[in-house]
Amino acid sequence: MPIKDNLHTIKSSLPENVTLVAVSKTKPVANLMEAYNAGQRVFGENKIQEMTEKWEQMPKDIAWHMIGHVQTNKVKYMAPYVSLIHGVDSLKLLKEINKQAKKCNRVVNCLLQMHIAEEETKFGMDTDELEALINSDEFKSFKNVNVVGLMGMATFTDNQEQVKKEFLHLKSLFDELNCKPATSNFEPQILSMGMSGDYKIAVNCGSTMVRIGSSIFGSRK
Ligand SMILES: *Cc1c(COP(=O)(O)O)cnc(C)c1O
Repeated sequence: MPIKDNLHTIKSSLPENVTLVAVSKTKPVANLMEAYNAGQRVFGENKIQEMTEKWEQMPKDIAWHMIGHVQTNKVKYMAPYVSLIHGVDSLKLLKEINKQAKKCNRVVNCLLQMHIAEEETKFGMDTDELEALINSDEFKSFKNVNVVGLMGMATFTDNQEQVKKEFLHLKSLFDELNCKPATSNFEPQILSMGMSGDYKIAVNCGSTMVRIGSSIFGSRK
């Protein structure tokens, strides 16, 4: 199906409070422009260099989300324009984002990535690391980052009960965070979970942001 039809189908199945991030990694700008012309304004990429090239070529009213693992030495390339960084999983990375954002006179929104899957390979923090980061004086001193929520990826499996259990775990961590008082750089409101294969489960478990690639743009090589 054409990209605009895929977008329409997915959009119409999402509740109003759920933001759709169109994951366009590996896809050419022409494909992204099809989505753009169909009204899509939020795009997700997992490589900083590829995202920056697309940002340079495309209209400037797009919100670019970095959804992949971030290397600290590359933060500077996206700091001038990135709208949300999903995969923040250490104080060290947050510190670098703060530093580069400050140079650009910006406050960069970030999500903390939690490890919720059974698989060893997925990135992300555990609950103790999350607590330690949020409660640290160093984090509280950062003025150019804003932690606006959590992100997580479920195990890649056909077992829907397992996926549901993992998403519900992330949702409960998110609800706990919401019990803490918001500060100037800590305002949790976004729960980023769900991809092409599991976004319906994620939405049922309380996701407010889904990251969907192949169901919009077709499979990747
Ligand atoms: C690639 C990717 C997605 C989108 O995956 P699809 O299965 O194509 O929808 C979502 N989140 C992350 C972190 C990704 O790397």
